[in-house]
Amino acid sequence: MYDKESSMRSQHRTRSLVILFVVGLLLLPIGVFAGQAKNIILMIGDGMGPSQFGAAWLYSNRVLGKELQMVEVMKRGRTAYLVNDTADAIVTESAAAAGQIATGEKMTARALSMAADGKTPVKTILEIARDKGMATGLVTTSGITDATPAAFASHVAHRSDEASVAEQELQAGVVVLLGGRKQFFLSEAAAGRRKDGRNLLDEARAAGYAVIDSADELKRIEGGKVLGLFNMGNMAYEIDRATTAEPSLAEMTAKTLQVLSQNSKGFFAMIEGGRIDHAAHRNDAAGAIRDTLAFDQAVGVVLEFQQKNPDTLVIVTADHETGGMALIGNSKDSKDYVGIDLAAIQNVQASFEVVEGALGKNPTPEKVREVVKTYLAIEITDDEAKTVITDPIRKLDPYNYTYPMMHSLAFVLRPYLRVGWGSQTHTASPLLAFGSGPGSETLVGFRHNTDLFRIMKAALE
Ligand SMILES: [Zn+2]
Repeated sequence: MYDKESSMRSQHRTRSLVILFVVGLLLLPIGVFAGQAKNIILMIGDGMGPSQFGAAWLYSNRVLGKELQMVEVMKRGRTAYLVNDTADAIVTESAAAAGQIATGEKMTARALSMAADGKTPVKTILEIARDKGMATGLVTTSGITDATPAAFASHVAHRSDEASVAEQELQAGVVVLLGGRKQFFLSEAAAGRRKDGRNLLDEARAAGYAVIDSADELKRIEGGKVLGLFNMGNMAYEIDRATTAEPSLAEMTAKTLQVLSQNSKGFFAMIEGGRIDHAAHRNDAAGAIRDTLAFDQAVGVVLEFQQKNPDTLVIVTADHETGGMALIGNSKDSKDYVGIDLAAIQNVQASFEVVEGALGKNPTPEKVREVVKTYLAIEITDDEAKTVITDPIRKLDPYNYTYPMMHSLAFVLRPYLRVGWGSQTHTASPLLAFGSGPGSETLVGFRHNTDLFRIMKAALE
């Protein structure tokens, strides 16, 4: 009896040790023990609040018949609820939000990674990674000098000083810079917006950058430093992109990872879906959803990279919500919570920016009906067209509205699209933050956006 028990116990112990060893071997490459990451990929959906995410989730599942890649990140990793108030405001804008994520300190509105005194630079996670010998990259569909990328590699008192941002991003030695707003790299004489007469494209070439401006050129990049500026202004909305020579966010992401992963010490990359915010500012539901889906495709590229390189920390989040987007219930002929009309969203052909341009300054009701039918595939009534022109919503609260006719158009479209908007500016809506890979273990529960810096920094230590 005694011997049998003893041998059973020893067998049990051996089996336990084998299981522990195998589990250990499996977990080792993903750094679960150390929480250490070789690479960090931070993805920011600008203006991607819970409703923008929810609308994209519905569209992806019910129209495209597939799960969001962002949901795959959540399934593999951890999810937190994120708040984002700043040193001087309840509702943030992108400069303070990105600065807080980049530095871990509370910032004031419109300053880029500066302490509250407005003049002391605060070191960013990108600079910390660079100083460790890691490669760094910034990617956006907005301007590369716009607030979100700018906060990671520049220190400027006001985000509108994009000429200084362009200069500092190059000086910071960021290896891959991809986005729009080439105008801040060119002098006024060269159709740009620099008042100092410098041509930063030439300066970048002299510093060893490949300077490119199309999707085709991007494809041919094999390595080295890359400055890709694909538009004088912002890059196109995803819904309008087919008419341009611009790469998708997913294509920019894939190339960035290909180039940066050549550094044996690892890399830090911030990849932004920059135009979700711009669409939401115009209360453009289809535009916001399409850009959120383009962002999601980039998340898919990152997940694929992480599968091959498990020592990579991936964090996906937003800087703030834009527009107070609401997925409302009732249509003209049904009060039964039919919800967002995904087929109508699918039929939309252009962004509200294109619609705004097509309407012109003083459209007739006939013109409004024609433009809405052409670009949005919706037949509004004459009364509704007149409402767009008289713009009552803007008059009720001019402080929270920006674009003439756009918010009244969005209001008129409520029973058609079943999407409502509370504002044309940012809101303080809490956000989602989720991630997977080494270091993501602490991305749980209730978090402030300044915590994201500490999570990333800890993963590098
Ligand atoms: Zn915004």
